[in-house]
Amino acid sequence: PKEGSIVIIGSGLIGRSWAMVFASGGFKVRLYDIVKEQVTAALQDIRKQMEELQKSGMLRGNLSSEEQISLISGFTELKLALEGAIFIQECVPENLELKLKIFSDIDRYVNDSAIISSSTSCLSPTKMFNGLRHVKNCIVAHPVNPPYYVPLVELVPHPQTEQVTVEKTYTLMKKIGQSPVKLMKETDGFVLNRLQYAVISEAWRLVQDGVISPRDVDTVMSEGLGMRYAFLGPLETAHLNAEGFKSYCERYGEGIRRVLATFGPVPTFSGEVAEKIDQAFWEEQTDKPDQLKTRREWRDACLSHLAKLKKET
Ligand code: NAD
Repeated sequence: PKEGSIVIIGSGLIGRSWAMVFASGGFKVRLYDIVKEQVTAALQDIRKQMEELQKSGMLRGNLSSEEQISLISGFTELKLALEGAIFIQECVPENLELKLKIFSDIDRYVNDSAIISSSTSCLSPTKMFNGLRHVKNCIVAHPVNPPYYVPLVELVPHPQTEQVTVEKTYTLMKKIGQSPVKLMKETDGFVLNRLQYAVISEAWRLVQDGVISPRDVDTVMSEGLGMRYAFLGPLETAHLNAEGFKSYCERYGEGIRRVLATFGPVPTFSGEVAEKIDQAFWEEQTDKPDQLKTRREWRDACLSHLAKLKKET
């Protein structure tokens, strides 16, 4: 295994995934949680997941599942877990008070070169890292669920984060097979969620205005836009749809502006429309209590095949 340890703080959904991704890259992983049973359950779950992934040929990295599992160990004492840490990935629940407490504890125990990274989906680096002794080593590395199958990681600096912290985190993410992007500064929602919210809000308005059903609006994405978006972003898509991006703007800019001007206000995300969309995605049969689980497993299988396909292209 490589020198130094990766420490994962919080062994829930995201912590487990990060542990698996780092182990697949050959790193020693220390998985810490305040709840002992949670650590035990996480280690068991990781073993089960890795064995299944190996069986289906979808295990990441060059090591066997047994070798990867042996790289991961559980901890319930923070100070002990942080010994020899080179990179810390925080994955506790999305609650600012809790994160502040955890970062002030970590700040006390780590050495001056360890990188302290947060998985937060929407808390700002400024709010989380202000005043820490090691603020120059702090960064947000926001994964996408599930990180094992979706490689994007948004790196978001605090204004006092040193460039070397960004570069080292970027290199580490590449090394474990993730696809990092660097935000130059913080912005509410980072980038993935800002794009995602733009799409969700227009989907909502189209259902609200009676233009299309909830399932059909999703089909527009999965069978239309999404086919390209797995390989190209919206900007290069435009670039290729004309003779370059400038030519696209000249040809279509006016039409796009006309349509955009008809977009409605920010949705309430409550009431009748929420009810209608919710209804549309539950299957009729009530004898299937695990509908969400079944569908999530199907999603993960699709994503792992897509990841394989993307590697081959
Ligand atoms: P989760 O609830 O599944 O797991 C949180 C874990 O943290 C639990 O195991 C809990 O026991 C542990 N914990 C609680 N207090 C702790 C403490 N003081 N010290 C150590 N461990 C503690 O949550 P999750 O879905 O894994 O989310 C973790 C973080 O990842 C959040 O910030 C979330 O915003 C972010 N994130 C989540 C997703 C997602 O889709 N779930 C995607 C990207 C980022």
